Amino acid sequence: MDLLEYQGKQLFGRHGLAVSDGKAVTTVDDAVAAANEIGYPVVVKAQVLIGGRGKAGGVKLAANEAEAREHATNILGLDIKGHIVRTLWIEYASDIATEYYASVLLDRGAKKPLVMFSVEGGVEIETVAEETPEKLIKENVDPLVGLTREQAVDIATRGGADADVIEGVADALVALYEVWIEEDASLAEINPLIVTPDRQVKALDAKVTLDDNAMFRHKENADLGDSANADPIEQKAKEQDVIYVKLDGDIGIMGNGAGLVMSTLDVVAQYGGTPANFLDAGGGSDAAKVKQAIELILANDQVKAVLLNIFGGITRCDEVANGLVAAFGDLNPTVPFVVRLDGTNDVEGRKILEDAALPNVHAATTMDSAAELVVKLAKENS
Ligand code: GDP
Ligand code: MN
Repeated sequence: MDLLEYQGKQLFGRHGLAVSDGKAVTTVDDAVAAANEIGYPVVVKAQVLIGGRGKAGGVKLAANEAEAREHATNILGLDIKGHIVRTLWIEYASDIATEYYASVLLDRGAKKPLVMFSVEGGVEIETVAEETPEKLIKENVDPLVGLTREQAVDIATRGGADADVIEGVADALVALYEVWIEEDASLAEINPLIVTPDRQVKALDAKVTLDDNAMFRHKENADLGDSANADPIEQKAKEQDVIYVKLDGDIGIMGNGAGLVMSTLDVVAQYGGTPANFLDAGGGSDAAKVKQAIELILANDQVKAVLLNIFGGITRCDEVANGLVAAFGDLNPTVPFVVRLDGTNDVEGRKILEDAALPNVHAATTMDSAAELVVKLAKENS
C-alpha cells in the first residue's frame, strides 16, 4: 500500500524524524483556515500517489491568506499525470539551505535492506543514479543487526554531507531505517531531506510503501492509503479478500492461483486480446467465492467477454461450476463466457454446466483454445 506524503510524514514523526506540522484538508476554505492557523509562509501540497508534483504545479508556497486561497483553488482538482488532487497538505514552509536524498528499500538481489543517500536531493534520483552514480551511496544493511549509528555516520560522510550535519543526517537515516523495519515498509524515501539555514535536518517529502502482507500486524495503519482515488472495484475486492487488479483491456479473467492467472493473461495477449483485469480467486474457491469474483469482473463495464481458467487442485471444478450457475442466476450476464475446467472433478463440473445450459457459456478443455475463443468472442461483442 502506497501512502500519501502526509501519511508517510506522520509515520516519520512517530519514529523521531523531523517533519513540519501541518494539516490535511479537502476544501479551499479548510485549506485557508489551516494556513491561517499554522501561520505564514505555508506550503500548499497536492496529495497524490505520484512523484513530480512540484514540477506539475502541485506544490506552492503561500506568503499570505490570498495566496493560500489562490493555490488551494488551483491545486484542488488538478490532474497530475492522471491523479486527481482531492486532498491538500498544508504545512509551515521551511527555509532550505541544502536538499539531500535518503531512502531505505529491499535489495532483492542481495536479500538485504538497502540504504541509499545522496547530496543531490530534490531531483529525480534515477537521474542521479544514471548520470552521476558516484554521488549516490548505496549500502546494504545486515538485517539481523540493523543500521548501526557508525554505519549511518559512514554513509553520510562518504556521501559528502556537510561536516556540521553528519550527525543530523545519521540520525535521520537511523530513524528512516526504523520506520522501514518497524512499520513493515518495502520503501521509505525522503526527497528532499533538507538542511535548514539553522542546520536542522528535516524530511520535506515522504514516499512510503507498506507491505500489504504485513498489514495484519499494523491495524493502526489499515485506513491509510489513497482511498479517495482508489479504483472502486479494487477497493471492493480488497474488502472481500480477492486479489483483483484492474487493467485496461476488455477481457475479464479469472483463475485460481497467481501463476495460472498470469499465464492466462499472457496467452490471451498472445492471441491478440487485452485483459480487463487480473483476478486470482485463490486455492479452494467455493461457489460463493466464484460468484463474488464474477460479480467483480462484471462490475467493469469495459468487459466484453470473460475467461474462467480453472485448474482444479484444492479447488474443485464442480464447486466452480456451481458458483458460475449461481452467479448467472443472480447477475444475468450479457457478455459471453469461456470456461476451461481441468483437474479435480472436472468431468462433474462440465456436466453441471451442460445441464444448466447457461446462455452464451462456452466450454473449453485447453488454455490455448479457451484464450483463442474468448478473444474472438470479445471482438464480436465490441
Ligand atoms: P515532489 O515534486 O512530488 O517530489 O514534491 P516535494 O514535496 O518534494 O516538493 C517539491 C519541491 O518543492 C521540493 O524539492 C522543494 O524544492 C519545494 N518545497 C517543498 N516544500 C517546501 C518548503 O517548505 N519550503 C520551500 N522553500 N520549498 C519547498
Ligand atoms: Mn519530492
